Amino acid sequence: MKTFKTHIHSNFTETLPADPIQDNTRRQVTQACFSYVTPKQTKKPELVHVSPEMLAALGISETESQSEGFLKVFTGNTVLPGTTPYAMCYGGHQFGNWAGQLGDGRAINLTEIDYKGKHWALQLKGAGETPYSRTADGLAVLRSSIREYLCSEAMFHLGVPTTRALSLAITGDQVLRDVMYNGNPEYEPGAIVCRVAPSFLRFGSFEIFAAREDVNTLKLLTDYTITQFYPEFGGPSKDTYLAFFKAVSQRTLKMIIDWQRVGFVHGVMNTDNLSILGLTIDYGPYGWLEGFDFGWTPNTTDRQHKRYRYGNQPNIGLWNLYQLANALYPLIGEAEGLQAVLDDYKTDFETQSLAMMRAKIGFEDTDVADLKLIQDLEDLLQVMETDMTIFFRRLSQFEKDHPEVGFQIIEDAFYNPKGLTDETTEAWNTWFQNYANRLQQEKSTDADRAKRMNALNPKYVLRNYMAQLAIDDAEQGDYGLVDELFQLLKNPYAEQPESEKWFAKRPEWARNKVGCSMLSCSS
Ligand code: AMP
Ligand code: MG
Repeated sequence: MKTFKTHIHSNFTETLPADPIQDNTRRQVTQACFSYVTPKQTKKPELVHVSPEMLAALGISETESQSEGFLKVFTGNTVLPGTTPYAMCYGGHQFGNWAGQLGDGRAINLTEIDYKGKHWALQLKGAGETPYSRTADGLAVLRSSIREYLCSEAMFHLGVPTTRALSLAITGDQVLRDVMYNGNPEYEPGAIVCRVAPSFLRFGSFEIFAAREDVNTLKLLTDYTITQFYPEFGGPSKDTYLAFFKAVSQRTLKMIIDWQRVGFVHGVMNTDNLSILGLTIDYGPYGWLEGFDFGWTPNTTDRQHKRYRYGNQPNIGLWNLYQLANALYPLIGEAEGLQAVLDDYKTDFETQSLAMMRAKIGFEDTDVADLKLIQDLEDLLQVMETDMTIFFRRLSQFEKDHPEVGFQIIEDAFYNPKGLTDETTEAWNTWFQNYANRLQQEKSTDADRAKRMNALNPKYVLRNYMAQLAIDDAEQGDYGLVDELFQLLKNPYAEQPESEKWFAKRPEWARNKVGCSMLSCSS
């Protein structure tokens, strides 16, 4: 680990106030942004996978990644000399309610490094208890670690802002989990993901100080965040804070529009799970739409109210930004500017959402009737269970001079084609006719349009059942599928003829299976 050490530079711990208590006891931590804590020793660590892209980004060689030193550092068994691991203090609104102090209950930041002009924080998820562990054990299990590892790298390759993953390892320890919270706990293999991002600060990192009326620490943290990550806004002032809030709002919206584009449902958009850098963070009970359905959520904990359903993600982004606005208010002292940013989010959402959907169906120009055409499409997609990924990918084959075969092109996306009524078929044919008429106004050829559409509509996403198959094998000690999916998802927009089997509808066995359609926060 020689090369790596030379780039260590932990701005966060150097700049911000530390918790003076160094025992690893659970407690309320005040007037501090983090607590020093040492990761837990594990019984028999073993590396499962490393991301070559992240190795390169951090300046670690492939050879080094296979060394004992690498394994020990990224399972928390060795602390790199010159580093002081720490857990961050934050709060958050969970499912709409203020939850008080949360914090890194099972994430431990190793350090931060600078490499090739980029700044990265490295964090182990599942490396043991911290002062923020509350009643839990600080550990993570293999299934949820595989899900986080594969999905964060897949999101990156999809072009969605996200935290990254460097490595996935098993610890050799057994971890007790009650997956469905129904009184059936079982031991599962423990695992650790090393995740990487410029920063893991969340909306909740700011909310905690506002809730405690600790304006001093709030200001220190906000000034630090702006200096480090938004330096273009200048030194501390009301205008700077507003510009910062505006930037966070815009990045959050961009991230959510990307989620909507690829059919990703986060599952737990609590304010402690929203990054201040607009990155997708904390991969828990997330899921990918199979049937296009605004009402869908994979998270069984949210089954009743479906607060975090697919179609509600943009609204929740706004709700969360309101909480952040409240947290920043003490630094600004007036609500007007903050309110203006929130109002802009609403109008920007309308504009960007429409632009995203236009692009998904291949329009370059705009027409006043596009909104109606898109809404009609969204309605139709929900009449029958229609696979989102397959539908949009097939739609790229549509020929504007042949609307009569449009239906045939996308028919494969229906889960139950036998359930089609004449009325629905006719509605589809009408839609295709309108779509063809609209395409006649566009300058580009069918081939050009197909190319543009296929660069936005992925062919391969990490369908929930695919992750579950990789998990089932991995729990038997076979990591082949973890690697296969990792490789596949590096090129989600490309045709990969040898992997055509992953361009398929969810198999029926996965429809109502735990881990495939039902996920809980237990991880
Ligand atoms: P999440 O819903 O995963 O975003 O977690 C909410 C809070 O619970 C965060 O403060 C986590 O650090 C904490 N947490 C989740 N799982 C564990 C665990 N196994 N041990 C300790 N803290 C946890
Ligand atoms: Mg979280």
